[in-house]
Amino acid sequence: MMGAAKDRVEIVEVGPRDGFQSVAPFIPTARKIAIIEALYAAGIRRMEATSFVSPKALPQLADAAEVLAAAQALPGLEAQVLVPTARHAERALEAGARHLAFVLSVSERHNRGNVRRAPAESAEEYARIVAMLPEGTGLRLNLATAFDCPHLGRIDEAETLALLDGMADMAPRAEVALCDTTGRVNPAHVQGLFTTAMERFPQVARWAFHAHDTYGLGAANTLAAWNAGVRVFDASVAGLGGCPFAPGATGNVATEDLVYMFDGMGVATGIDLSSLAAVAREVAELPEAQTGGRVRVALAARACIADIAA
Ligand code: ZN
Repeated sequence: MMGAAKDRVEIVEVGPRDGFQSVAPFIPTARKIAIIEALYAAGIRRMEATSFVSPKALPQLADAAEVLAAAQALPGLEAQVLVPTARHAERALEAGARHLAFVLSVSERHNRGNVRRAPAESAEEYARIVAMLPEGTGLRLNLATAFDCPHLGRIDEAETLALLDGMADMAPRAEVALCDTTGRVNPAHVQGLFTTAMERFPQVARWAFHAHDTYGLGAANTLAAWNAGVRVFDASVAGLGGCPFAPGATGNVATEDLVYMFDGMGVATGIDLSSLAAVAREVAELPEAQTGGRVRVALAARACIADIAA
């Protein structure tokens, strides 16, 4: 056999942010932390633990500082927090954040809906954040609506690339994520845009893909990004989620669906599927949780069939 190292991917569990923010009833902070700890126990080593945003806009994440502190207490867990403006980045850093994920939308209309700014103004905020980061702080640049906007439909590739033209050099060590905010993209579009972007921006050290599963293509789109060379993927346990700013969008691709897919391909994720599925079943019990994915349900059915057959 070949001596080459096994292929591996890094899965970023975004359920505690993208997932929790879509749940209306407040999830008690202790329960959020218990879920984060269970995900960690299943092998998750990178997580979007919360977001520093206006507590008025997203009361669910008003406990960001406390949740972040608990996540950062887990040894070896890289806990990133999402921030949409420089002011919220400051709050996150004051709370001790060591890894920021800045988000802006390629679509002007979507960006104005989120932060009442044009994308170019948000790009200036990003530059300010880069300038204020303490040495050693991790940074991710999330381009929301990189493929498709809930209001405007398909986003032209040229528009996404033009925004990156102005931002890629601001922080070359930052990881850049192209986000399918609506879940309406298809594998050809994903593979095409990543291939073009990777050629055009060789200075970007790492790329990531953020999939939603609205049309059931989250795993297929993730595989398309993998084929383009992407090795970092966002996913949400139990497919929990939706987006308060993207009407009709459902949750992210389910983490357990990606782990099942990559396990089958012989690609290491570091995550134990059966432990993760147990967490997913627990998350699906959250009041008013909107869940998705297939593997959680399939594994439960398989267990049931095995019992009957035995
Ligand atoms: Zn999302």
